[in-house]
Amino acid sequence: MNPSLTYGQALVHAARGRSLPAAEARLLLQHVTGSTAAQVIAHPGRPLGPVDRLRFESLVERRAHGEPIAYLLGWREFYGRRFIVGPEVLIPRPETEGLVDAALARMPAGEPLEIADLGTGSGCVAITLALERPQARVLAIDASGDALALARRNAEALDCRLDLAENDWLSGMDERRFDLVVANPPYIAAADPHLAQGDLRFEPRHALTPGDDGLGALHAIILQAVRALRPGGWLLLEHGHDQADAVRAALAARGYSDVFTERDLAGLERISGARRPRRARTRRSA
Ligand code: GLN
Repeated sequence: MNPSLTYGQALVHAARGRSLPAAEARLLLQHVTGSTAAQVIAHPGRPLGPVDRLRFESLVERRAHGEPIAYLLGWREFYGRRFIVGPEVLIPRPETEGLVDAALARMPAGEPLEIADLGTGSGCVAITLALERPQARVLAIDASGDALALARRNAEALDCRLDLAENDWLSGMDERRFDLVVANPPYIAAADPHLAQGDLRFEPRHALTPGDDGLGALHAIILQAVRALRPGGWLLLEHGHDQADAVRAALAARGYSDVFTERDLAGLERISGARRPRRARTRRSA
């Protein structure tokens, strides 16, 4: 058997033989050969050497078995930038760009705001905010040291100044005060069948679900952030499409003001937020 193959033959093998979408097959071929999309498209007759062929076929096989394309390529684009990703972090989602937009709308440019991103994972939210608002100081928090190491690599690759802390949400950070706290916490219910489908099967479970009804992490953050926010500061949360009522109720119950929800591009209630009142309620002791 001829161990070499042309680019065009390799793409046909992946698309027809293994039923990969043509765009994914092309991305894997670009990844293996270091070619651009234009090169792959313009030169179907270019030979794929035996080593590249083996690498390509192995990636195609893994993709055919469901491994996320982002993990195979090692990156995913978010807010127009390329973030390194691996199985230690959640793959950035398009709907999370809505969380970034909601934050940027509350971050006047040029102000030295202090921001915390809880459960930073790849760092996509924290790094985007830091790059879009260079005067802000952004602290990326995660309970996973492996995730933080990846967030640090992304910050370096994107030339971004970022502070990092290994911590369980904001617990124990009693002295810190922030103008804005953002989080895309794990919010999927433990019994949700989506956990057993698609990319989610390969992503870190602790990044997807806090267990039970999926609201545990949201509640913990709502409880902790009201103390960590400066008066007037915003808490912004991504949540499941059916959790907005519960999140708004929890925010109101903890004394936040200006509670709101925004929909994502699919029209689903996806981001909720609120602010710490300018005059913080004084807690009465019983
Ligand atoms: N903050 C990261 C993101 O939005 C990771 C979130 C998570 O792991 N739940 O993609």
